[in-house]
Amino acid sequence: MARARVLLLNAALGPLDYRIPHGMTARPGSIVVAPLGPRQLVGVVWDEGSFPDVETVGDNRLRNLLEVLDAPPLPETLRRLIEWTADYYLAPPAAVLRMALASMSALEGTRTVIEYRATGQLPDRMTEQRTQAMERIGERQGLVRELAMIGGVSDAVIRGLVKAGAFEPVEVSVDTPFPEPDPAHAPPALSDKQLEAASQMADAVRAHEFTPFLLDGVTGSGKTEVYFEAIAAAIRASKQTLVLLPEIALTEPFLERFEKRFGTVPVNWHSGLRQSERRRAWRAIAAGEARVVVGARSALFLPYPNLGLIVVDEAHEASFKQEEGVHYHARDVAVMRGLIEHFPVVLASATPAIETRHQVDLGRYREIKLPARFGGAQMPDIKGINLLTDPPERGRWIAPPLVVAMEEVLAKGEQSLLFLNRRGYAPLTLCRHCGYRFQCPNCTSWMVEHRLTKRLACHHCGHVIPAPRFCPECKEEDSLVACGPGVERIADEVKALWPQARVAIATSDTLHSPARAADFVKSVEAGDIDIIVGTQLITKGYHFPNLTLVGVIDADLGLEGGDLRASERTFQQIMQVAGRAGRGEKPGHVFIQTRMPDAEVIQALIAGDSERFYLIETENRRRANAPPFGRFAAIIISSEDSDEAAQTARLIGKSAPQVDGMRVYGPAPAPLSVLRGRHRHRLLIHATRQIDIQSVIREWLGNLVWKSTTRVAVDVDPYSF
Ligand code: ADP
Ligand code: ZN
Repeated sequence: MARARVLLLNAALGPLDYRIPHGMTARPGSIVVAPLGPRQLVGVVWDEGSFPDVETVGDNRLRNLLEVLDAPPLPETLRRLIEWTADYYLAPPAAVLRMALASMSALEGTRTVIEYRATGQLPDRMTEQRTQAMERIGERQGLVRELAMIGGVSDAVIRGLVKAGAFEPVEVSVDTPFPEPDPAHAPPALSDKQLEAASQMADAVRAHEFTPFLLDGVTGSGKTEVYFEAIAAAIRASKQTLVLLPEIALTEPFLERFEKRFGTVPVNWHSGLRQSERRRAWRAIAAGEARVVVGARSALFLPYPNLGLIVVDEAHEASFKQEEGVHYHARDVAVMRGLIEHFPVVLASATPAIETRHQVDLGRYREIKLPARFGGAQMPDIKGINLLTDPPERGRWIAPPLVVAMEEVLAKGEQSLLFLNRRGYAPLTLCRHCGYRFQCPNCTSWMVEHRLTKRLACHHCGHVIPAPRFCPECKEEDSLVACGPGVERIADEVKALWPQARVAIATSDTLHSPARAADFVKSVEAGDIDIIVGTQLITKGYHFPNLTLVGVIDADLGLEGGDLRASERTFQQIMQVAGRAGRGEKPGHVFIQTRMPDAEVIQALIAGDSERFYLIETENRRRANAPPFGRFAAIIISSEDSDEAAQTARLIGKSAPQVDGMRVYGPAPAPLSVLRGRHRHRLLIHATRQIDIQSVIREWLGNLVWKSTTRVAVDVDPYSF
């Protein structure tokens, strides 16, 4: 009798065995429907002999598989990747499988997608926005959201144009292929250095060779142009390419550049897709028809049958590390996928992670450097401002030397950017009279004042309250004070200094949609803005030729708390924001305000010396036996019931095994000890590289039981703690 071991899309379950009924063809990889109790679930037939721990069931107790779905089978290499990910990150295989089958979990789905295209009719009422959107969209057809992105307007504007008859709906079957990018559409003339870099990558693509590349080039050196040539090589070789971006905010400019180079936009995989759209993209990917896919980390597990290249852009970004569900690092899984499927993986970054650079030192990754900006633009000159000897006036945050520099830039008609990685007006509000502090009821965090929206908000769970007028504790009026600065407060200071200057705040609050972001970019490019005050949102991707000055308000902010990556993250963030200065013909200047001018990271920044920072930080890590030398894992125990969480944490702590070369710290309250109403405790495990930390943890936790209302999550190689 034919049986099949099936991994169901239900994270709570391991694989189960089923009978393959007569006349059904189900092989490893087949996507099937199987009964479970009264339910019907989608799953994938796994390989014979896989999951040897599964209890076998006698033939007579097996239930029949119900159906094999009409979809390409999951490739063998992807099944290996799923197993590896589940093993390495100690996650249920089904949870990883769900990312691969993203769209197949719903059995029923509409067979069509509604797209829109111009009718050629102009609406009676035209606005500037409408005209501009229609011009930019032209003949293009797409989803409302995509047209909005291309047109640089909100979804509502496109819907308005549909109503006005300027666009009409077109029913597209989920089987309709996407247009193919053309590698010969508009190739650039590469510099010698770029050409050399591009040909190394293209060679590896053509040779189907696993080669991890670190494309290490300063901001503006032309990394994107270089990896575009690797993509062109993959298209010519009839291979698929996946480009992973760290943030949706970077997608729109990417699509635009891609279209200029290849004549059409790539297939865009993102969380905003509807079921039918998701299905269409998934099918095109699984059929090998989607040649180039751009997406966030979740696009990594899709069933490309024919992948020939992965590019991870801004590869150092923390957002590639998923912090819930399966705690995986997309950069590392991308490299593993390249190894399993034999193709090159390009990690592009101006500020590579210490771990990645270390792989180069070990000879495992091939480094390609682009040390100069393209077209001869100079790197900005970086100076420190010691806040202890050159402090701002009382109640202000911009120190005199920065004020002077901004004054000059303003007089020349050039633009400045002030960087502070804090949204809102002030991070803490307290009562001067009784000392009351506004704290989030769901999290261990302060409520941040947002003066623009007249609210206090928790940045962890989104809880908001109207801005209070009196203290809830002592009822005193006029006793509430804002402590510390956020970008809104800095913007106020700028307006007080230069009432005539045009100031824009750039954060996820003000640029919350692609349309708003596009408007912002347009007004900066048009010279309608003199001074930008922004958070990390502004540190990446933007190219403003007239922006010549960057001021970092508080370089020490990220160094407080002293977690493993504090220095590294500070270095990366400030290098990135410094990279916004002087991208055109005019040279850029950067001022870094700090209370620790002698800190190594600050010194390295001022010297603009990445190499020195890397050497010092690597040495610090070596001494502390921290990654990439030693390794960490965290066990996070959480429950809505604080006693229950504490009890389970103690139970796990007490059962910690004794292993040479491994130390267990805690349990202790996690850094955010209450998050979204859940009480969190943490154990931290520090071990040498020789220890198989996964096996140790698997055995350790495998012997314990806890209440189902308690969640225990393992984070292997945590990003920060
Ligand atoms: P990076 O990705 O390293 O930040 P980009 O690829 O964005 O750098 O290049 C920086 C700027 O230089 C962009 O405006 C890009 O269009 C331009 N550029 C880079 N290489 C070339 C080239 N070979 N020909 C023309 N323009 C180029
Ligand atoms: Zn909260």
